[in-house]
Amino acid sequence: MRKVKVAIIGAGTSGLSARSIVAKSTDDYVVIDDGKLGTTCARVGCMPSKVFIQVANDYHRRGVFKAIGISGGNNLSIDSRLVMRHVRKLRDRFVESVFADMDSWKESHLLRKRATFIDKNTLDLGDEQIEAERIIIATGSRPIIPTDWQKYKDYFIDTNTFFELESLPQTMAVIGLGVIGVELGQAINRLGTKVIGIARRRSIGGISDPDLIDYAIEKLSDEMELNFNGVQELSLSDGRLVVKTSNQKYTVDKALVSVGRKPNIDGMGLEDIGLEFDKNGIPAFNSDTFQIEGSSIFIAGDVNGIRPVLHECADEGNIAGYNAVASSLNKYKRRTWLGITFADPNFASVGMTYEDLQKNKSEFVTGHASFEGQGRAIVMLQEIGLLKLYGCKKSKKLLGAELFAPSGEHLAHLIAWVIAQELTVQEILHLPFYHPVVEEGLRTALRDLAAKLGEKKSLLELALCCEHPTNNC
Ligand SMILES: Cc1cc2nc3c(=O)[nH]c(=O)nc-3n(C[C@H](O)[C@H](O)[C@H](O)COP(=O)(O)OP(=O)(O)OC[C@H]3O[C@@H](n4cnc5c(N)ncnc54)[C@H](O)[C@@H]3O)c2cc1C
Repeated sequence: MRKVKVAIIGAGTSGLSARSIVAKSTDDYVVIDDGKLGTTCARVGCMPSKVFIQVANDYHRRGVFKAIGISGGNNLSIDSRLVMRHVRKLRDRFVESVFADMDSWKESHLLRKRATFIDKNTLDLGDEQIEAERIIIATGSRPIIPTDWQKYKDYFIDTNTFFELESLPQTMAVIGLGVIGVELGQAINRLGTKVIGIARRRSIGGISDPDLIDYAIEKLSDEMELNFNGVQELSLSDGRLVVKTSNQKYTVDKALVSVGRKPNIDGMGLEDIGLEFDKNGIPAFNSDTFQIEGSSIFIAGDVNGIRPVLHECADEGNIAGYNAVASSLNKYKRRTWLGITFADPNFASVGMTYEDLQKNKSEFVTGHASFEGQGRAIVMLQEIGLLKLYGCKKSKKLLGAELFAPSGEHLAHLIAWVIAQELTVQEILHLPFYHPVVEEGLRTALRDLAAKLGEKKSLLELALCCEHPTNNC
């Protein structure tokens, strides 16, 4: 039996991040992966979806050309075969860059096999067994297709198959309007496919603030049909898929099923090696060290289900990798939460979300700003958007935000960074805001929040020099 110090199961972002840390202190490791290499992010996730969305938004922009004096917009057309080819071309480039990073690996470091557990330190790879002092599970997640829908699978597309489409169908149901459903659904619709977005409750784009959800639904309904009554029944008619909700029946060519993702933890034999499991079926682990309790196994990335976004998966891989070779475990502080949905305008949630604050029974007030009538949004002809900021009544600090706003991806970063600095709302207002920029909308929301926090409005909105003694030298 081969013995190694560290075995990493999964060569996705999390597993590769773990490996990069492990490899700094030992050569005695293996990475095990029997699937397609190149990472979910580059192959079927973040990157190809952003290429697709970019094309859709570029094409959609033609809608304003006439009004601003650019003629010929109506003559533009889409060849979805070429669009999909373009998406795959850039996708391949992103995947290649992952492979390039793996070029320096020794052959013995990568095992193209499926791993199951025999005991807490031993893995079965089919034709061999590996005994490892430490094991990192970084097996990611996969799209869910409900079992009773399986018989219609020929009509379904998920994110594993979407980017392989030769061309786009004429009509499509997008079932599930979370992050992936909204991002892809809007883009598919903008590229000329008639999309019906279906969800089982009034929820959209990964946000939780009810006013913002209502606002976003109202605005997105202007460009595509949305139905929040859930799928009740599926059937076939004349070779097409019939999707029935409680109030409507839609006949479509295909359905993009984006109802969530399932951790790749089943079938790994973990139930039989004496671990405790949480209510979601994930082995109980410490979310500061990523160690599975009572074992020398770590679990990082999408598979643990806590923060299934790329930069967090990389962090978790790094932490697990560090701890897998360390003599004692380090606990790491997580970054301020930042989640972005690349719809147009972008959705984002930052820091503590509305739902978090409600759950924690936090004492907070809300500041808001509309981007309808906001200077730069008018210039860009993107006068849609609402920003909600949540501030702590007691400390007067900014706790979190949710938004559906133009350039929301950038606003969300700024907000995350000031939350991470634990600044009060007044201190944030002392920072510079250029003109005319979308960030001025953020300042409007901060001013509203400051007023609601009962902050006395300073006449100049500037700090006095004496408040910063070091600046006086
Ligand atoms: C359409 C889409 C768009 C997205 N967009 C964004 C975005 O814009 N921004 C963002 O931050 N995040 C985005 N994400 C999420 C992001 O892609 C994931 O959070 C991240 O890629 C997960 O990385 P991972 O390492 O956990 O898993 P993966 O990259 O999926 O790696 C898991 C690996 O484990 C292997 N494996 C599984 N089981 C076994 C086994 N038993 N034995 C051996 N190997 C095994 C698999 O083959 C795979 O290679 C998106 C995801 C999707 C699907």
